[in-house]
Amino acid sequence: MNDEKKTVHATVLGYPRIGANRDLKRALEAHWSGRLDEAGLDAAAAAIRSQMLDDLASAGLDSVPTGVFSLYDHVLDTIVAVDAIAPRHRRGTETATYFAAARGDHEAVPLEMTKWFDTNYHYLVPEIGPGTAFEARPEKALAEFDEARQRGLAARPVLLGPASFLLLAKASDDAPTGFDPFDKLGELTAVYERLLSALVEAGADWVQLDEPALCADRNESELEAVGAAYRRLTPLVDVMVTGGYGPLGESLPVLVEAGVHGIALDLVRGRGDIAMLESLNVSRETSIAAGVVDGRNIWRTDLLAAAADLERLHRITDRLAVSSSCSLLHVPVDLEAESELPSSLTDRLAFARQKLREVASLADSAAPRLQRPAAPEHWRNETVRSRLHALPAGADRRADYAERVAAQPELPLLPTTTIGSFPQTAELRRARAAHRRGLMIDADYHARMRAEIAAVIAEQEKLGLDVLVHGEPERNDMVQYFAEQLTGFATTAAGWVQSYGSRCVRPPILYADVARPEPMTVEWTSYAQSLTDKPVKGMLTGPVTILAWSFVRDDQPLADTADQVALALRDEVADLEAAGTAIIQVDEPALRELLPLRSDRREHYRRWATRAFRIATAGVKTQTQIHTHLCYSEFGDVIDAIADLDADVTSIEASRSKMEVLADLDRADYRRGVGPGVWDIHSPRVPSTGEMAASLRLAVAAVDPGRVWVNPDCGLKTRRYEEVRPALANLVAAARTVRGELE
Ligand code: GLN
Ligand code: ZN
Repeated sequence: MNDEKKTVHATVLGYPRIGANRDLKRALEAHWSGRLDEAGLDAAAAAIRSQMLDDLASAGLDSVPTGVFSLYDHVLDTIVAVDAIAPRHRRGTETATYFAAARGDHEAVPLEMTKWFDTNYHYLVPEIGPGTAFEARPEKALAEFDEARQRGLAARPVLLGPASFLLLAKASDDAPTGFDPFDKLGELTAVYERLLSALVEAGADWVQLDEPALCADRNESELEAVGAAYRRLTPLVDVMVTGGYGPLGESLPVLVEAGVHGIALDLVRGRGDIAMLESLNVSRETSIAAGVVDGRNIWRTDLLAAAADLERLHRITDRLAVSSSCSLLHVPVDLEAESELPSSLTDRLAFARQKLREVASLADSAAPRLQRPAAPEHWRNETVRSRLHALPAGADRRADYAERVAAQPELPLLPTTTIGSFPQTAELRRARAAHRRGLMIDADYHARMRAEIAAVIAEQEKLGLDVLVHGEPERNDMVQYFAEQLTGFATTAAGWVQSYGSRCVRPPILYADVARPEPMTVEWTSYAQSLTDKPVKGMLTGPVTILAWSFVRDDQPLADTADQVALALRDEVADLEAAGTAIIQVDEPALRELLPLRSDRREHYRRWATRAFRIATAGVKTQTQIHTHLCYSEFGDVIDAIADLDADVTSIEASRSKMEVLADLDRADYRRGVGPGVWDIHSPRVPSTGEMAASLRLAVAAVDPGRVWVNPDCGLKTRRYEEVRPALANLVAAARTVRGELE
């Protein structure tokens, strides 16, 4: 007994499900294009699951999560598990139904997709109405549980918890106003009772219910409902509740009182939960999974610091487990695939497979507890540090907006522009790939890019746009392009992470002090400007977005790293300006993504995020116009931040919300230029002149017409010229029409 008390269990909360070589992506794409039938897809999926289990089993964990594979998205899997598929998506086979919901087809639009908490993963939003009749469909959970059991593994089925499922859902279109999916928690809990019972019958003694929504602020009545739901579930089986995205905070006492048998803590972002638990009357029989291994980032764990947290938790419980802070979904599979990275860097990294070993070794009291070594001296850049230190007070402030507008380029009323990228053709991608592999010499590559830029400029002149762009043909990705040219960043060969469905991204690694050795965009922008008398907008990615879409060093505050990136961009902005660029756009589509889930952390975020943007942009002359672009229209929580960026013009998504967002911006006292997207570029539809003119009329009615810009919703890189040409022609015509009405 005494021995058992001392034993620390090792587990993780979830595992990457795209396969070690993006096998899922290949299988899905083959299936969607008709090259692989359902049986073939099932076989590919089974092979990936088998590899996942191999990885988990060979790492020496004491229990493994099951049901964490997904063909597309785990929220969609939960929709299936509770039979909440929207009627418009039901098809002849389960697989066809699944993909109709995920991707839509000629009959039905797909479910909406949105960001999963403060990550770059996207989930499918359940549509719930008063009439949604939940049913238990435990087949997937049972099958995957069985696969693990057949191998003799101690398996722990994982489901998205009922509260988070409903908190992530939206009311279906036919629901009466005021209907809140969360009101159905009681009904849904009854279905979870059946799901859990089915798993118990199959031999499960633990079930993991993920409740990431409890890592955000929740009100009294929500917490009360959560408590009631869990009081019904805990008698059925040993329930382990996870948060995973920061502190569970005030949800902890609710869960403890509801009698949950285990709680998984995110001890990377939510260490305050230890003190919270210490203050509660927790039974020593309660299992605590200490999430000391970061599931969101790729740095090796500081084993010494982690051991100290484990020690503290051991004073609360006899049943301690070491685990990842959340599912390992957000990290690449295997560091071994990286042969090009310097060992000074790889020595400090752990991808999913390496993290499994960290967990196992932390659970083994005989294993050595090493402190993480300090970063090599040459990773520090004293010049950058002293330049930041020496930035004069107010270096992030520009002249008053009124003074700026008066000095800035004179443009027609309702100026027309685009967001930056033009279609990325297969031919362009081939040229970039050939250049990267050394199969195309620099001179040929540059000639190819220049030809593309010239074509894009000619297109825009012909269309009659007022502010032109160079079209971004040279950019593989809006973050990676910069990461490849800044010091302090490394890019991986195969560090793929699922973004959604078959879509994977390869975030760069920001590991050291950041500096910009040479201009990154000036050559292309200046070339574009040399071809036209119209102003060409310079195009950069902002500091917050660069951080959000990279794996960022965790040995200093994010704010300090943001300042360094901002300083590098400030240099770029200065060089663009010196080269004659009168308008510079700094995109921040991820401004909202990094917003902390807890309101008490938001003010701090707003301060450093907007300061970094201003460091990047405020060095310019009064005459230089700064634009920014955000990819969404629901800015409720970041509206103050948008105003604080102090850009002269902000372009936003607005066509789907019928310009209602403009009133929000006005209410927040945003009084500068605004470009509400009048063309939803996420759809292949070409909007008519009349449609866009109608949007513009709404815009000029909502805000001073002198401040309104006319542009699409987002960049055009995913669209084809067949859509872009007519849509932009209509956009220009719409601007002229409404201009005529105003003059
Ligand atoms: N300038 C970028 C483009 O047009 C902006 C992309 C984005 O907002 N995600 O592609
Ligand atoms: Zn965008």
